[in-house]
Amino acid sequence: MILDDSPQAKPEPPALNPIGDALFLDFDGCLVEIAPTPDAIKVPDDLPRVLQDLAARLNGALAIVSGRSLHELETFLKGFDGPMVGSHGAEARGMTAPMAHQPAGLSELQNEMADFASQSGLLYEHKSHGGAVHFRSDPAQQPQVEAFAQALAQRFGDFAVQPAKMAVELRPAGFSKDGALAALSNLPEFSARRPVYAGDDTTDEPALAWAEAQGGFGVKIGKGDSVARFRLDAPSRLRDWLAAGLES
Ligand SMILES: [Mg+2]
Repeated sequence: MILDDSPQAKPEPPALNPIGDALFLDFDGCLVEIAPTPDAIKVPDDLPRVLQDLAARLNGALAIVSGRSLHELETFLKGFDGPMVGSHGAEARGMTAPMAHQPAGLSELQNEMADFASQSGLLYEHKSHGGAVHFRSDPAQQPQVEAFAQALAQRFGDFAVQPAKMAVELRPAGFSKDGALAALSNLPEFSARRPVYAGDDTTDEPALAWAEAQGGFGVKIGKGDSVARFRLDAPSRLRDWLAAGLES
């Protein structure tokens, strides 16, 4: 018997069950590898078709759930027509958009973030419902970026800080990926199925926990501790697992 008490040791997930599973997938770092900048990701040519075919096998129970804007998701995954949730749950396609009102001060907040990033020599990422400052190019600036974001969230009450990989994001308060999964699960295609969620980041942990708590399971993509029971080492391994689901 091999004993491995590393907190990172987790088995690979069981095969997808097309009859009984509902599949929820994060995008960056999960379906596609993280790139030096958000625009530089490479989407494999066949990914939208694999998602489309898998969604058909699952009778429509496949959704993308991401912190990206819906517009970016639609551009990157052109050819996949299924439900998508963007901006951590603040905008959606294929279901009623959960956004009740535009958060107050959006453009002022975005201007301040862009100014801060430019003064710090860091990348500002514009999002339809917020923004992000990336410190991948200069990780030593993380504490200053976090302090700036916290101060901003104090002043703009409709926004909350969302830590991400090598970035700090401001997004509308009151939305979350686990909330998005709960809303999607009320749709007829998803209800009465076992939720399976795959994600790579700290922002995914509540959604991974939600899937586990509902009798399904979570799949952590890549390194790092997680509440998920299962792990795949890289986005390419997840894509292999999805492709295998087409043949099972
Ligand atoms: Mg991700």
